[in-house]
Amino acid sequence: MPGQFITLDSDMTPCVPPQPIIPFIEGDGSGPDIWAAASRVIDAAVERAYGGARRIIWRPLLAGERAFAATGDWLPEETIEAIKRHHVAIKGPLTTPVGRGIRNLNVALRQRLSLYANVRPIRFFPGVEAPVKAPQRLNVVLFRENTEDVYAGLEWAAGSEEAEQITALLSGLGVRLPPRCGLGLKPISEAASARLIRRAVRFALEHKHRSVTLVHKGNIMQHTEGAFRDWGYALIEAEFADVAVTEARLWEDFGGRTPEGKLLIKDRLTDAMFQQLLLRPDEYEVIATTNLNGDYLSDACAAQVGGQGFTPSANLSDEVALFEPTHGTAPEYAGQDKVNPSGVILSGEMMLRHMGWGEAADRILRGVEGAIARQTVTYDLARRLRGAALRSCSEFGDEIIASMK
Ligand code: NAP
Repeated sequence: MPGQFITLDSDMTPCVPPQPIIPFIEGDGSGPDIWAAASRVIDAAVERAYGGARRIIWRPLLAGERAFAATGDWLPEETIEAIKRHHVAIKGPLTTPVGRGIRNLNVALRQRLSLYANVRPIRFFPGVEAPVKAPQRLNVVLFRENTEDVYAGLEWAAGSEEAEQITALLSGLGVRLPPRCGLGLKPISEAASARLIRRAVRFALEHKHRSVTLVHKGNIMQHTEGAFRDWGYALIEAEFADVAVTEARLWEDFGGRTPEGKLLIKDRLTDAMFQQLLLRPDEYEVIATTNLNGDYLSDACAAQVGGQGFTPSANLSDEVALFEPTHGTAPEYAGQDKVNPSGVILSGEMMLRHMGWGEAADRILRGVEGAIARQTVTYDLARRLRGAALRSCSEFGDEIIASMK
């Protein structure tokens, strides 16, 4: 196969050759329809930006239903190893078979590859119908911790032997629980909090954002959510004191104005943050938060800009970046060339930027903006817009390519 491997330099930045091999997982359900359109758009953006001097060599990987049909394994080891080896990969949505004892494939991928940061940029595309008056005021990049919190799977059913043992242990510590309690544990560690916040701060500095906001519910859960905030501030002090300023110091030392060129670090309680994002969205740029908060906040932000069907994401470890849309397989539309491919296309935009191919990434953004602004859109957007021209999944891809400048 032609093409070269992406490698990492000493600070883990990808070194991308002119013809990198990039693995992709097409995905289940509507995944193949979406991938056909999305890969064409990504290739066209690279071609327009670099005129043939750069080209992606796509390498298909098996996961989900196709993997099971071909190998009897829902997530073959070869797929995990290939993603590790190539450092950058993109995937469509995968079905998790219900009631067959198979764990969620996306969670399995995140855990096997230690993808500790889930990153979601959420912004408004003019032309989309949004439920608020000024959706363009929201433009955030959300860093959600991906490995801990109540998502760690530490749960015990009411009445189970484990729940009884833990209840007895707690009773020895003077904690009285009502009978027949379901129990869940919320682990938040210093190491996982620090690496997530470090990643968010570095991103903010690199992309010249003005602020990073730590979101937590530390007034109630002091030793988990509160610790996330405290470890965050300790990290800023230890590693970023020369380039960042905290909100507390802003008032003490700088009269409330962020000094030129410095990154402002603030923190907000989760409940207040939901209000803030609705009432004063333009005061927030990069958000770093725990797993459950991030789950809630990202969906709320996506809904606020009308983008719940097509928000992209990246799952990052220090060595691997795996890009994927946030929607599922929409199996009822499989094979109909109907659904909106923007989630994978915009994940491709994030991927190109991660690779340092910003000129191609810009073309994708301009293409999506152009197609939506012209109101030539897939059914999900068309049904919310009066006078929009309905396009199939592949035709919408064509519209995006036609709008690339
Ligand atoms: P879903 O596939 O996201 O579909 C829910 C609804 O969202 C669809 O019925 C459709 O709504 C709309 N939708 C989703 N993707 C769309 C697209 N690309 N274009 C236009 N509309 C879109 O969620 P689900 O039905 O809960 O889950 C189905 C399967 O996907 C499950 O097996 C689940 O495990 C899996 N899943 C995978 C991932 C992942 O791989 N990351 C994430 C979530 C779910 P309308 O019919 O109203 O138009």
